[in-house]
Amino acid sequence: MKRKMEKLPQIEGKSIVESLNHLCKQHPGEVVFTTSFGYEDQVVTDIICRNNLPVNIVTLDTGRLFEETYKVFNRTIEKYKINIKTYHPSGKSVGKLLEEKGPFSFYESVENRKECCYIRKVEPLKKALSGNKIWITGLRSDQSDNRQALAPVEWDNGFGIIKYNPLHDWTLEHVKSHIKEYHVPYNVLHDRGFVSIGCAPCTRAIQPGDDFRAGRWWWENNSKKECGLHSQGK
Ligand code: SF4
Repeated sequence: MKRKMEKLPQIEGKSIVESLNHLCKQHPGEVVFTTSFGYEDQVVTDIICRNNLPVNIVTLDTGRLFEETYKVFNRTIEKYKINIKTYHPSGKSVGKLLEEKGPFSFYESVENRKECCYIRKVEPLKKALSGNKIWITGLRSDQSDNRQALAPVEWDNGFGIIKYNPLHDWTLEHVKSHIKEYHVPYNVLHDRGFVSIGCAPCTRAIQPGDDFRAGRWWWENNSKKECGLHSQGK
């Protein structure tokens, strides 16, 4: 059963750190940040860790990530001396998918791709969000047309949780300069033309001027370039 929309917290006029502090005080132990170790997520991790904010930092290991992503995962836990709780897809569901459709079924249809994303991302995300009241993301509004209307705080109807998007009005240049200024570890794939980095078989580098999400599921022409994590409606 879907959870009813809850009253959104008031953070107008507060800085990111003040907002995070406020949310952590209002919901102790129930604030979660999901990272996939991309540029934006690394900025959020850096802000959380440098300010010792009591946020649960978690990640989803789909089983199909780039080696470079695991490397930045490792550099992050080493630099900040933190534990990042990792959620995995159900072995039974992955086994069934592989047995019935093989390891590259996602190239065959949007339906198959969404099935794989559901098993490897959406189901683990449900577990990761369970028991939390606030979900912090690294989303920015200029990442894609679908995200233009992104608000700093919003209700995620699909997962039944309040979302806080601290970087909602940041530009990519702003993100990069934070990474540089604070020596934040980042995924080296960003230096090779990758912007939005997901699973290895479904992500490629883009050309200057391409849409931010053009490197994700590039073989799909008409689908919304979302995997079900951030497309559940408000
Ligand atoms: S991005 Fe590709 S490999 Fe990863 S879960 Fe989605 S379809 Fe599967």
